[in-house]
Amino acid sequence: EFHSIVDVYNKSVSQYRHRPAYSNFGKTITYGELDLMVQRFANYLICELKLAKGERIAIMMPNCLQYPVALFGSLLAGLTVVNVNPLYTPRELRHQMKDSGACILVVADNFGRTVEDAELGSPLRKVITTGLGDLLGFPKGALVNFAARYVKKVVPTYTLKNTIRFKETLDVGAGFPAPFVSHSADDLAFLQYTGGTTGVSKGAALSHRNIVANMQQVAAWVSGNVEMGKETVVTALPMYHIFALTANCLVFLRVGGHNLLITNPRDMPGFVKELSSVRFTVLTGVNTLFSGLLNTPGFERLDFSELRLTIGAGMAVQRSVAERWKTITGTPLIEGYGMTESSPVATINPFVAGAEFSGSVGLPMPSTQVCVKDPEGNTLGCDEVGELCLMGPQIMQGYWQRPSETEKVMDEDGWLHTGDLARIDAGGYVYIVDRIKDMILVSGFNVYPNEIEDVLAAMPGILEVAVIGAPSAKSGEIVMAIVVRKDDSLSAEEVKAYARKYLTGYKVPHVVEFREQLPKSNVGKILRRELRESIAK
Ligand code: ATP
Ligand code: MG
Repeated sequence: EFHSIVDVYNKSVSQYRHRPAYSNFGKTITYGELDLMVQRFANYLICELKLAKGERIAIMMPNCLQYPVALFGSLLAGLTVVNVNPLYTPRELRHQMKDSGACILVVADNFGRTVEDAELGSPLRKVITTGLGDLLGFPKGALVNFAARYVKKVVPTYTLKNTIRFKETLDVGAGFPAPFVSHSADDLAFLQYTGGTTGVSKGAALSHRNIVANMQQVAAWVSGNVEMGKETVVTALPMYHIFALTANCLVFLRVGGHNLLITNPRDMPGFVKELSSVRFTVLTGVNTLFSGLLNTPGFERLDFSELRLTIGAGMAVQRSVAERWKTITGTPLIEGYGMTESSPVATINPFVAGAEFSGSVGLPMPSTQVCVKDPEGNTLGCDEVGELCLMGPQIMQGYWQRPSETEKVMDEDGWLHTGDLARIDAGGYVYIVDRIKDMILVSGFNVYPNEIEDVLAAMPGILEVAVIGAPSAKSGEIVMAIVVRKDDSLSAEEVKAYARKYLTGYKVPHVVEFREQLPKSNVGKILRRELRESIAK
């Protein structure tokens, strides 16, 4: 049995030594090659830096080959990993470094300036720097120019003290014999900061037991449908976010799969081009990623013959997107639900080939319980809408050093309160209504942005849409739709007329505003909070 991520890691690297583990820009490393670097990196952390068990190491890199080396090396060394969004501002980085107490930072050169400007001082002991192309070696072939376009040699313009190059750490680590480190299920694997969609992000303390439980739960869900050692998963969401960290990086470690790392999925044409030269069997993403792909020329001509599984989570999957996905790729877009605080997978739909989109986020994972509660804490019945609560082995230990925040979300009976409104039907299927914080109150009526966005997203002239509440003296709040249109010909009146066909009066957007783009989080979630702030100005 597996007690820690390291147990799973050790089993997979020995079992799949010659199988591909990670690819980026056409360069592939096997599990054996990965392990060689991982062992060296771990040795460097333990023997050279003399880090003790449980100390925190921060990793600030987009998807690249160094990421899994730093990740597994740190876990092997018994450290707790703090994933940092590389696009953070110096202020945000400083907050997360101070909050987590990380003493080591691994960072790509592209973001060295942020580190410099953050003026971290102590307790930061060492900064390990790397170029995004450092492990690529720019293989000969068609991808060379293509890779060079993105992984340009960034000339480090920062002047940080106490730095070492990533490659050097491997050389230093090679000089030490492998030390012994014990791992237990209760050790903290990650301080995983929440997405920051609704406010300041908090560090969810996730133990090895939490993460291993979620890996096993997802592995149980896919078992029989994946071939051990044979799958290739497209990893377009960043692995520093919990979704791809668990669902792609760790679950596919467990099944000996091959992770195809996409460094910059915002460049949709580039992404489609990368997919055109590889075979892939699994793809994970969020709704905005799928709709972006579907709207990119050339996507529909890709070879989907081996694609068997597409998983969407992190935000509501829209019906129109799921239906187009199935028509074009021939595989259903299976929706799941999760959050950082639950490692993250809590529910998912059954894996049925040809399944129709239902709008449900599915059934609880094995050993997971769900219920819906009213604001007074009473458990509600079938199909009643209330706050979704979760219990299971994947639920976090608490927010790092924030007992009062933890108390707000974990009740006396051990339920995690998700902050999401949901209902559970007679068959046990969970339907997410929306986030409590995003609910709109129009003259006493509750309006849920997800429902209106789902309707409008299906309108042919609309590329993307976000719905928020705007303050109104008359009705408390009014419904406002912020729309990215395909071309200028679409008018606000047309959008409202379309909405009227499918929605009762009080749900129809009162105001329709057009913008060039919508603000999104690091994983592509639309930031309604920022939109609300922008209209308040
Ligand atoms: P923060 O907590 O810092 O505001 P966040 O909640 O976006 O950020 P995550 O932990 O990444 O951070 O996201 C979890 C949330 O994402 C859930 O609570 C839920 O609101 C939303 N979510 C996840 N999956 C789905 C889904 N399938 N449908 C609707 N919403 C979803
Ligand atoms: Mg949250």
